[in-house]
Amino acid sequence: MEMEECIFCKIGRGEINCNKVYEDDEFLAFRDINPQAPVHILVIPKKHIAKLYDTEEISLLGRLLYIASKIAKDEGTAESGYRVVINTNRNAGQSVEHLHLHLLGGRIMHWPPG
Ligand code: AMP
Repeated sequence: MEMEECIFCKIGRGEINCNKVYEDDEFLAFRDINPQAPVHILVIPKKHIAKLYDTEEISLLGRLLYIASKIAKDEGTAESGYRVVINTNRNAGQSVEHLHLHLLGGRIMHWPPG
């Protein structure tokens, strides 16, 4: 998909509204439009990376994870527990081809995941 058409690129550029919880020069975090838990936040890099395996920028991936951990604390879900998920490709149910980390919390999670 072209970056110009990518919905998460558009959200990152401010062209589509989102319920923002965090932003810096490189990353944006916003509430999922179809939440699967009381806390369901997506963290994205603003630059277009389609899949987790499409980048070798290790420090970008580290910062993505770090931001999620900070937000989990801010949302009050760190102590009770939360889950971070990066769906990749069809079997995992990736529906938006722009790297995004799901931060899920506020309820008991089951294992194995569905
Ligand atoms: P995935 O299935 O892992 O690709 O996750 C994509 C997620 O993006 C889903 O949980 C959707 O509910 C969410 N989503 C899609 N469009 C939007 C949007 N405009 N604002 C917020 N979340 C969205």
